[in-house]
Amino acid sequence: STPFGVDLGNHSAVVAVAKNRGIDVVVNEVSNRSTPVIVGFGTKNRSIGETGKTQQTSNLKNTVDNLKRILALNADSPDFEVEKKYFTCPLVDKDGYAAAQVRYLGKQEEFTSVQLVAMYLNKLKDIATKETKGNITDICLAVPVWYTEQQRRAAADACHIAGLNPVRVVNEVTAAAVGYGVFKTDLPEDEPKKVAFVDIGHSSYTVSIGAVKKGELRILGSAYDKHFGGRDFDKAIAEHFADEFKEKYKIDIRTNPKGYNRVLVAAEKLKKVLSANSQAPFNIESVMNDVDVSSQLTREELEEMVKPLLERIHVPIEKALEVAGLKAEDLDSVEVIGGCTRVPSVKARLAEVFGKPLSFTLNQDEAIAKGAAFICAMHSPTLRVRPFKFEDINSFSVTYYWDKDAEDTDHLEVFPKGGVFPSTKLITLYRTSDFEIEAKYTHPEQLPKGTRPEIAKWKISGVEVPEGQDSAICKLKVRNDPSGFFTIESAYIVEEKEVKELVENPEAKPEDEPEYKIVKKLVKTKDLNIDYEGLALPKDVLAEFFEQEGKMVAEDKLVAETEDRKNALEEYIYELRGKLEDQYAEFASPEEKEKLSKMLMDTEEWLYDEGDDSTKAKYIAKYEELASIGNLIKGRYNAKQEELRQELRAKQEA
Ligand code: ATP
Ligand code: MG
Repeated sequence: STPFGVDLGNHSAVVAVAKNRGIDVVVNEVSNRSTPVIVGFGTKNRSIGETGKTQQTSNLKNTVDNLKRILALNADSPDFEVEKKYFTCPLVDKDGYAAAQVRYLGKQEEFTSVQLVAMYLNKLKDIATKETKGNITDICLAVPVWYTEQQRRAAADACHIAGLNPVRVVNEVTAAAVGYGVFKTDLPEDEPKKVAFVDIGHSSYTVSIGAVKKGELRILGSAYDKHFGGRDFDKAIAEHFADEFKEKYKIDIRTNPKGYNRVLVAAEKLKKVLSANSQAPFNIESVMNDVDVSSQLTREELEEMVKPLLERIHVPIEKALEVAGLKAEDLDSVEVIGGCTRVPSVKARLAEVFGKPLSFTLNQDEAIAKGAAFICAMHSPTLRVRPFKFEDINSFSVTYYWDKDAEDTDHLEVFPKGGVFPSTKLITLYRTSDFEIEAKYTHPEQLPKGTRPEIAKWKISGVEVPEGQDSAICKLKVRNDPSGFFTIESAYIVEEKEVKELVENPEAKPEDEPEYKIVKKLVKTKDLNIDYEGLALPKDVLAEFFEQEGKMVAEDKLVAETEDRKNALEEYIYELRGKLEDQYAEFASPEEKEKLSKMLMDTEEWLYDEGDDSTKAKYIAKYEELASIGNLIKGRYNAKQEELRQELRAKQEA
């Protein structure tokens, strides 16, 4: 399958594919290089991406955005309440997790965040499949560095529901840094360059410090502000105008969701204009109660509004540098990506905190998707890519716990914060019987608010104490895998055995007899069973969601095809009517003309009436009915044209 990389932004998503020639960003059905992350629900179908955006204002209550913010978000997390404020549909608690309540196909439905992300990913898959005409299955999905095991598992589940195979989940900024390492041609061969990568998007802000040299990247430190991005600017502007319009026009747009949304949309536009201009107008016609509003904003006023945000900009930078064990002056460059870094005051503040000018080597909008596509290609068995090695850094410490038996401890911090991954460690336990082991985040208070510390549980069975021993020596290969998941890869028993070993003798001549000695060694004697119970969805639930998604896709497809057939019928009526009066006129008998004209009129009337909302089969039948006469006349016309052409050629040849 074609390697596929996705940057699932909160505002828009960018997708890239790897080809033999390199990495290409894929354009969507309206030729945009990024696609709005929106899922809308209607009475007949869903509208996802561009069409979701088109129907948003008129269908706010049934439109879901901010998808990555709610993926596997616990309903009792304080962030649940925070996110609610950004949603135009009700955000509800479904089995302890955030879900969206919408009306779909005339019924009230609750869709889980995993389902919603799956719907969206499926749309991206469709876009990529159409554009590349290839088979899109393997995906490398970029996620925020603050995603914990829970969110990463949910992201992988969403891929599965969309019929995608998540070969790797990667941190967004790491993906961009990989792209930097792969495509920058002047990197040092020996002493790595220290680079800060900064991404400020629509909803969150991340800093990762990397050591990059030719063919190699190591992330040395990462930090984030989960609540810092373009949407906070938009909200600040909208709130400002809400106050102003209350005063000036005596309207309260906060009580009018549609009005408020229009202000929010206009606020985003205004913000962008203010990135290039020092002042900009703000006008909306009939924002609510038929009131037209008109105002303006200066760049300074905007800066004043977002001052509390700007004052926090130094925090992730300092934290990331601290984890990396570096000072700002040790950095060779500061690479900036993400739409919100186009705001002049943000740029200025970043440059000030780092104490150096910012670099824009990477494509601000596409770097993550391209890096992800490259990483997906690295895992492809068929595509050959430039060799590149990279290691990421673990954001949260993880400890494995067990019930004490013959050991003298009952837990071990196996993967400390700041350690690199992928990484594998071996734990040795002394057990007298089967046991359970559990992985948890060591410091729940350091996790994004509301995250539960549990990661996974494993039942290890098949333990047998060897004869003459007090306990079995169990070895567990535990792994922080390339996607950041915490796993137990294998478990086995070792025993001390006497083995014959060749004695190395450099002075021995080839004709000498080889010499052996008997040594005591730990050798693997038995594999143990591992039963995993983690945060991924159970297989049956996954299968059910997969099936439901397939049905919804089929429904959407049918609706789209029906619409297509209807449009074709409409066009055919106008075409035939026009030609009947014109070039077809002499090829139809008066009776035919009369009959066809009446049929055209009837069909048109039908279209305005019950045919406005009919079935695909009916539209096709009506079309064919018209075509049965229409094609006859067209055939005569074409035959005549051909005759004239032949005559002309004969004349020319003569
Ligand atoms: P996130 O990374 O937070 O999940 P995202 O990846 O979708 O979100 P980006 O595409 O990096 O976010 O950035 C989108 C944000 O950048 C939006 O808030 C958008 O309004 C803002 N933005 C884009 N262009 C400009 C500009 N010229 N001036 C100011 N802001 C801009
Ligand atoms: Mg982003």
